[in-house]
Amino acid sequence: MLGPGPPVTYNARVARRETVAEKRQRAVAILDGLEAAMPDARIELDYRTPLELLVAVILSAQCTDKRVNLVTPALFARFPDAASYAAVEATDVEPFIRTCGLYRAKAKNIVATARMLVAEHSGQVPLVRDTLSQLPGVGLKTAGVVCIHLGGDAAFPVDTHVKRLAYRMGLTTHEDPDKVEKDLQALLPRERWTLGHQLLVWHGRRTCFARSPDCGSCTVAAKCPKKGVAASAKA
Ligand code: SF4
Repeated sequence: MLGPGPPVTYNARVARRETVAEKRQRAVAILDGLEAAMPDARIELDYRTPLELLVAVILSAQCTDKRVNLVTPALFARFPDAASYAAVEATDVEPFIRTCGLYRAKAKNIVATARMLVAEHSGQVPLVRDTLSQLPGVGLKTAGVVCIHLGGDAAFPVDTHVKRLAYRMGLTTHEDPDKVEKDLQALLPRERWTLGHQLLVWHGRRTCFARSPDCGSCTVAAKCPKKGVAASAKA
């Protein structure tokens, strides 16, 4: 009796012939591989309350989590709840977040968001993605990240890492984050969306770098067509 053939190495040609069922299987296998390699994958922003998470995610736009974690202890000590942000002007918040980049816009959004939370949500962070995404400075991605970490609406938020990796892995052909998210949601079971998001973010930060992905040491290289990756990086 013939044994199983050699494991399939995915490349652009194989991926083109892939059925939807095969792609689903491959997407699950990629997550399994990433989960085995990074069992500690978790959000790297420090927070203790839903509001702290929301503020930290707003601050993390175009800024590293490490940098955000440096400024938030003093910020959170000065502004412990939505009412305390709502009672000040953006210029009072700016000095705390000056090193985070885009700090004027972020301070403005944090104060405006806090005022809406106080006025419309009793100072609490709603865990409904569509409601959250109506807050100033809180788009669908930020709302999704907050929801999945606080047990709110299910989502597969697409940040720059998730978008890049989903494309390279041949799990989407889209650039638009909303369309990428729909593709990922269609391929992966809902109960794996939260960890799936986290695993892709971690893999993007540790191996599948934007400029020069380290395909040579990538744990899921055999399942990845490496779309758009330069030949020199694929080796
Ligand atoms: S590092 Fe290379 S092989 Fe690994 S996921 Fe990224 S593109 Fe694919």
